[in-house]
Amino acid sequence: MSTRRVLAMQDVVKRTPVPFSNNNQQVSQYYGSNVFGLDAMREFLSEEAFNSIQNSMHQGTIVERKMADQVAACMKAWAQSKGVTHFTHWFQPLSGATAEKHDGFFEPIEGGRAIERFSGNALVQQEPDASSFPNGGIRNTFEARGYTAWDPTSPAFIWGETLCIPTIFISYTGESLDFKTPLLKSLHAIDKAATDVCQYFDKNVTKVIATLGWEQEYFLVDSALYNIRYDLQQTGRTLFGHAPAKGQQLEDHYWGSIPERVSAYMRDFEYEAHLLGIPVRTRHNEVAPAQFECAPVFEETNLAVDHNLLLMDVMEKVAIRHNFRVLMHEKPYAGVNGSGKHNNWSLATNTGKNLLSPGKTPKTNLQFLTFFVNTVKAVYEHGDLLRASIASANNDHRLGANEAPPAIMSVFLGEQLSKTLDELEKAIHNGKMSPEEKTALKMNIGRIPDILLDNTDRNRTSPFAFTGNKFEFRAVGSSANCGGPMTVLNAIMAEQLVTFKKDVDALMNKKVEKDEAIFQILKKYIIESKKIRFEGNGYGDAWKAEAKKRGLNNISTTPGALEAMISKKTLAMFESQGILNHREQEARYEIALETYTKKIQIESRIIADMVSNQIIPAALNYQKTLVESVRGMKEIMTPAEFKVVAKSQLELIKEISEKVTVIKTEADLMTEERKKANNLDNAKKQAHAYCEKVKPYFESMRYNVDKLEGIVDDATWPLPKYREMLYLR
Ligand code: ADP
Ligand code: MG
Repeated sequence: MSTRRVLAMQDVVKRTPVPFSNNNQQVSQYYGSNVFGLDAMREFLSEEAFNSIQNSMHQGTIVERKMADQVAACMKAWAQSKGVTHFTHWFQPLSGATAEKHDGFFEPIEGGRAIERFSGNALVQQEPDASSFPNGGIRNTFEARGYTAWDPTSPAFIWGETLCIPTIFISYTGESLDFKTPLLKSLHAIDKAATDVCQYFDKNVTKVIATLGWEQEYFLVDSALYNIRYDLQQTGRTLFGHAPAKGQQLEDHYWGSIPERVSAYMRDFEYEAHLLGIPVRTRHNEVAPAQFECAPVFEETNLAVDHNLLLMDVMEKVAIRHNFRVLMHEKPYAGVNGSGKHNNWSLATNTGKNLLSPGKTPKTNLQFLTFFVNTVKAVYEHGDLLRASIASANNDHRLGANEAPPAIMSVFLGEQLSKTLDELEKAIHNGKMSPEEKTALKMNIGRIPDILLDNTDRNRTSPFAFTGNKFEFRAVGSSANCGGPMTVLNAIMAEQLVTFKKDVDALMNKKVEKDEAIFQILKKYIIESKKIRFEGNGYGDAWKAEAKKRGLNNISTTPGALEAMISKKTLAMFESQGILNHREQEARYEIALETYTKKIQIESRIIADMVSNQIIPAALNYQKTLVESVRGMKEIMTPAEFKVVAKSQLELIKEISEKVTVIKTEADLMTEERKKANNLDNAKKQAHAYCEKVKPYFESMRYNVDKLEGIVDDATWPLPKYREMLYLR
């Protein structure tokens, strides 16, 4: 092995689980203790300030400056009581990662002394340089400032020695430059639209929140091996690597026993998560070797998104303590499953009702049916936008690769609900439904919960599936900020519910009775949105053909999928719901294209580097050994003997030469294509060029490199192999 690989493997075999002690405390004893939550607020705030924040959290009122001073002082006192020295605004720029800039509390004062101070101003607003974050051309050249502004609906928390304050991030001219601002607006839109619709059924509903429970998949790899794989370090995935003889084909990893080193890691990051009030509760092995999943109890969506982002950061930092690196990339290894992040989504009322949970009484069932059918209709109307919301260079490796839902958007309802919708469709004749039919329908839905509970009616191959009391958007990538797709889902649902209310009111104005009007409109939607429903195997080729017949799009790469972001329909939808204006949405589209281009560009450069600095030298080295061996044989053998014995070695030498030549030639051609792409004058053309001209070289070069890996002496191969990286003890 190359010296580096030998040293790394020596580290790996010496690893033992990192001991962990929380003195046998139960989670309830420390849960949320690093969060400026209700308990801390009650202890540290005056009643007036406490009420002001509570109102802001629940009614969206603005916290006055005077009050902000008080809150800041109390937050500081609380944080200092826990040894905190710094604070930061914590926000979600469109680069995808979270951003933070730590400032000390201390301020120098006269006499060479210092005091600790944290003002209301510092809490409420900061001014980072917007030009250093993706802005899609929104920033004026002469006004580079952006603002971060406190989001009181997500509590401040302590991470390390720093008090972190969740904030939105907007430009000087007020356009949003982050994921959080439109998410908050979409939550406001759906609250309004859903509350209005709830009035048909229950006057006590005054607020509706969207709930999100994500399931985070990830891989672990030993840090010693990670440190000598430049591709993993810089792109998050292995650009080369021969599949191991034993991958996931025995299906022995899923829900298997968790290796001790890994469970020590899980315990540790869950502990940190619980201190931060992140309710992670589930952990298990996933399908691929070295792949795992964790999931929390669901929460209000804004908080759930913040918690997911924070947890990803926690997981990365804690992994290093355990000599692991955590891989959040959608496809770290070829040939085994990639990682996703299922987004379980529903709507809940202030009266404690889950609007997507079929009830036992006929009265609530029409309400359930209303929200259920409207969700299907919303996905039907904006399937392409949902597809765009999960598009990324990383996720392109998963979608449609027989391990993740296809790039075709469809909705899975399950047998019972499909039947119910079919019945409703047939039940109305001549614009009317008999009282018996109405009762029968409502009663049928009443039986659904029991049927769903047994869990058999599930389909794992659908990108958007109803799972009993929520929809599960499964196509989201593991490294994504779920704020993006959740903004789209809330927005399209809000628009749909507004339309629904208009449609029903129009009938009621014509003296159609309320239930009848609702049934009629639902029937209309069921008929209109039929083509988005699919109950079969989403991985099969038959579905691709069927979807094509139905006129559903199947766009397998990001540059094409992103087009839906700026369609007239999308722009109008976001604008009508007050979530993103044209300029903001167009900027987002630009940024998504640029991000795509940069990712492929980086991968392409690393491929070229690794090929010329690591792969080709290793291959030529081995070839040299072979050549010397053949030369030696020639010296000591008769020509007749030599001819027989040297044959296989000569073939190997030739094969290595051929592969090296192909790889080198393709690396040069790829570099040429990159240069051409870089010279194109707009983001769309560049992204397409990188997708269609540069990326195709990745596969063929990889094919030849992986073949070389199989030929070249293991002792000289420079990269840790899949069989070494994928097996954890
Ligand atoms: P699975 O889908 O793996 O069978 P569950 O159905 O128990 O598991 O839940 C998966 C995820 O769905 C969990 O993160 C859970 O918190 C979340 N979830 C459950 N109910 C809701 C809801 N009403 N809204 C949003 N998420 C939910
Ligand atoms: Mg699930």
